[in-house]
Amino acid sequence: MNFCSECGHPTQHQVPADDNRPRHVCTHCHTIHYENPKIICGCLVTYQDKVLLCKRAIEPRSGLWTLPAGFMENGETTGEGALRETWEEAFARPKLGELYALTSIPYISQVYLIYRAELETPEFASGPESLDVQLFAADEIPWEQLAFQTVTKTLQHWVEDQKSGHYPLHSIELEERIQARV
Ligand code: ZN
Repeated sequence: MNFCSECGHPTQHQVPADDNRPRHVCTHCHTIHYENPKIICGCLVTYQDKVLLCKRAIEPRSGLWTLPAGFMENGETTGEGALRETWEEAFARPKLGELYALTSIPYISQVYLIYRAELETPEFASGPESLDVQLFAADEIPWEQLAFQTVTKTLQHWVEDQKSGHYPLHSIELEERIQARV
């Protein structure tokens, strides 16, 4: 941020009094512009023993497969955001289940919340941000063509949990970029 969103004057990156890290501080009205992590919510949608994946039509990672998920909007719950993103990207209206994967990605300041969600009928279609939407059995998942490391980790848990039929909440922390994937 180079200019203050309150008054339009330039900001400086400095540590405010009584703080311990640099912030964008307005040189004119002295407003401190805090920046905090972004929340991304989405669904691990299943139909029978298959999982719904979307092939991204947009950058980053266009052409690779992901779970339907996106930035939470103001004024909605995380579950509502997860279902909204699932509709926007996959035109699917599953029944929302429990929170399944919570991923912290501190190096890009993002938090992912992925809920389990179940389709009663296999009705879905590509939304504007998807090239394709398909159901995959555990042994059909395109591991080499997944868009994000958090998606890979979440699907690894799902494949493992499918064997026991128990789906506890998984807390995932991504410490570093692996294979240049986020
Ligand atoms: Zn200002």
